[in-house]
Amino acid sequence: MRGILLLTTVFVAVFGRETFVGHQVLRVTAKNDAEIDLLKELSQLEHLQLDFWREPIDESLPVDVRVPFHSLQPVRSFLAYNEIHYDIMIEDLQALLDEEQQEMMRSHAVLPRTTDDYDYTNYHTLDEINSFIDMLVQENPKLISKIVIGQSYEGRPLNVLKFSTGAGHPGIWIDTGIHSREWITQASGTWFAKKIVNDYGRDAALTDILNKYDIFMEIVVNPDGYAYTHTSNRMWRKTRKPNPDSTCVGVDPNRNWGTGFGGGGSSSDPCSETYRGPYVNSESEVKAIVDFVKSHGKLKAFVSIHSYSQMLLYPYGDTSTPCKDHVELDELAKKAVADLKSFYGTAYTYGSTFNTIYQASGITTDWAYDQGIKYSYTFELRDIGDYGFLLPANQIIPTAQETWLALLTIMDHTKNNPY
Ligand SMILES: [Zn+2]
Repeated sequence: MRGILLLTTVFVAVFGRETFVGHQVLRVTAKNDAEIDLLKELSQLEHLQLDFWREPIDESLPVDVRVPFHSLQPVRSFLAYNEIHYDIMIEDLQALLDEEQQEMMRSHAVLPRTTDDYDYTNYHTLDEINSFIDMLVQENPKLISKIVIGQSYEGRPLNVLKFSTGAGHPGIWIDTGIHSREWITQASGTWFAKKIVNDYGRDAALTDILNKYDIFMEIVVNPDGYAYTHTSNRMWRKTRKPNPDSTCVGVDPNRNWGTGFGGGGSSSDPCSETYRGPYVNSESEVKAIVDFVKSHGKLKAFVSIHSYSQMLLYPYGDTSTPCKDHVELDELAKKAVADLKSFYGTAYTYGSTFNTIYQASGITTDWAYDQGIKYSYTFELRDIGDYGFLLPANQIIPTAQETWLALLTIMDHTKNNPY
């Protein structure tokens, strides 16, 4: 035990990783609009350095907020004074992070030589995921190729896996990891990629889909952010592009898209976690997907995967006005979450982004939908607030397994309803 502690200490010292000793995540339950307004005021107090895991929007969803140690007393006093109810969601954030690190060291000991040896039960670094991608392509050259659709701000390749059984097929897009701290998503994406290889030619449903559609998977949409969550700050969400005239770095890549850009549920403040960026598609990680989608021209489903909250969402996020396919998208979402639940009983809510989670403008799947890709969905994976972004590694495979059922349902419906 002492050895591990020492090792952790050395690791932090060498890499200068930000620590979160004494930080707590509070779950705040506002009763009414007045309390939401108070929480919004709280979020404006920059010296508190609060990190809202779920922003105060309205009273339908609890607000989750990471509170640094030095701000705990003022925040608790503020909530008590205003009689706003809260619970402690995570008592000691650093303890969870230490567990996650120790778990990862277990798997670092063995370098996988094939994708069969890859440790799907654990979280991995960007380099490990990239070598997984290369191994998977090498092992299945007839089925899979790697496309580099662009470069991140820091010059990293934006890798997309293409699963294809023939030329000229329409396509289905799946992305994970646009928000870098949502580690369960990149881990699930890796598992999905291997699952496609395992099931092609064996599972009738997947085989039929792949015989007619190409599947494109971008497992790490935001590689700069993901690398940064490993080296420096586990809680990093945005891109890593500096903002001129601000000491705050990065843009929220899920507020940087062309539909509803600049609307409610996105911020013009570079220091905000939902900063939309200076202009539409300012982030190369976003622009690369935009260019790819437009040049492909035949994508029929577009699934973008986030965590957390256990939700399946369809357009729109910037407005409560229903999208024109909302009846069909709602029915399909209902079926997909029922199939997901059948595996482990995990309950999802579903609906339009605006009505189900909160107003969010300039998001990926609203843009995809407005490009004519009817089956555009956003997932919010596990959990609903025990661990938030720090989902323990032993939940990776169960999360991926259940989510795969919902993905299959969406892909199958896409295949059976050509347009
Ligand atoms: Zn996200």
